[in-house]
Amino acid sequence: MTTQESRPARQLLQFMERIYRYGMTTTSGGNLSIREENGDIWITPSGVDKGALTVQDMVCVRADGTVEGSHRPSSEFPFHRLIYETRPDLKAIVHAHPPALVSFSIVRRIPDTRLLPNERRICGRIGMAPYALPGSEQLGRNIAKVFGEGINSVMLENHGVVVGGRDLFEAFQAFETLDYCARLEIEAARIGKPTLLTDDDYAIVREKSAASLPVYRSEGIDEEEMEVRRTMCGYVRRAYDQGLFTSTQGTFSQRLNETDFLITPYGCDRKYLEPEDLVCIRGGASEEGKIPSQSVRFHQAVYGQQKHVDSVILAHPPCIMAFAVTDLPFDSRTIPESYILLRGTPKLSFESLYNEPEETAALFVPSTPIAIVKNNCVVVAGQGLLNTFDRLEVAEYSAKSILSARALGEVVHIEDAEIRDLKAAFKLAD
Ligand SMILES: [Zn+2]
Repeated sequence: MTTQESRPARQLLQFMERIYRYGMTTTSGGNLSIREENGDIWITPSGVDKGALTVQDMVCVRADGTVEGSHRPSSEFPFHRLIYETRPDLKAIVHAHPPALVSFSIVRRIPDTRLLPNERRICGRIGMAPYALPGSEQLGRNIAKVFGEGINSVMLENHGVVVGGRDLFEAFQAFETLDYCARLEIEAARIGKPTLLTDDDYAIVREKSAASLPVYRSEGIDEEEMEVRRTMCGYVRRAYDQGLFTSTQGTFSQRLNETDFLITPYGCDRKYLEPEDLVCIRGGASEEGKIPSQSVRFHQAVYGQQKHVDSVILAHPPCIMAFAVTDLPFDSRTIPESYILLRGTPKLSFESLYNEPEETAALFVPSTPIAIVKNNCVVVAGQGLLNTFDRLEVAEYSAKSILSARALGEVVHIEDAEIRDLKAAFKLAD
């Protein structure tokens, strides 16, 4: 059937697979839709295994109500239709029951998006719709009423979440980010009371993000640099697959020589990053026509000062970030692997990357390969892409173990004398 091969059908499949693959829905829960300019609504089918969907399974409900496709539309079609009627500006809707958001839904709380700098902008205002029978017109009216207030992300009491956007990419990113906020807040609540960003903090981000580098015109990418770009993209996608990056967050850079480096662009979806998307910084100038990550000046300062570093990652995985949004210090003396790769892991102030990139870069000497930036990110420096990626993974796994261990008992750290032996045996810098 040719219509089922259309762009909306393919996009629905792409994002449903993504949501299922990354643990944000079960096989039976969740549905997505896209509204076209002519009023047709494309929607995922009712009762088809989310793990085995094909593009032919997608259903089109025409503006006149006729249904095209080999299945019935999702049983939640009524609320999709009512949201589109209420909000002509919205063109796509994501609905699912990811576990962390369901946790918030069943205690009837809204996740806080003010733990880190970008989440509030991506998710916008968030509402809560009263419970009603699934598939009912009443549920549709309850949800559409909140959307009618200009809100695009709506928690559903004892159910899940619905997010609308100008396209499916935008709706998905807000949905994924809200789920991330929920996961972060849950992890953080296990060790303390999370600190929220203030209006002054947001002002610092706005002010410093506006600053840009001079630009240069690229004369093509040679094969050697292309190979580095391909390898970097592989690690970026792997970081996404491992839950270390989200679609909109996570910065990776790699040194090319004394002064030049490659860095991830601002805003591109990390899952689909291509070698050509990476931004080259050459002699302090940025490749024309691309926007480098907002933390580019910090990366530049690290490569300028720390000759032993040739790769830097800024990331926000939820377990290590639980330590960034609460007061509990992160102590890597859990298992030898953690201490060897993470060492002291200091906590830096929220504004350190924005206001003092040079002073902050000076901290990343060989004995300090990683630091947590309060309410912001974790910074990892290393020798090469694999070593740096490994360090980030170890940081997140170590943090996860500490968070889980608290349910079991008191954490026992490796003692000072044993640490001295580790330093000697593995030739760790002081
Ligand atoms: Zn549902």
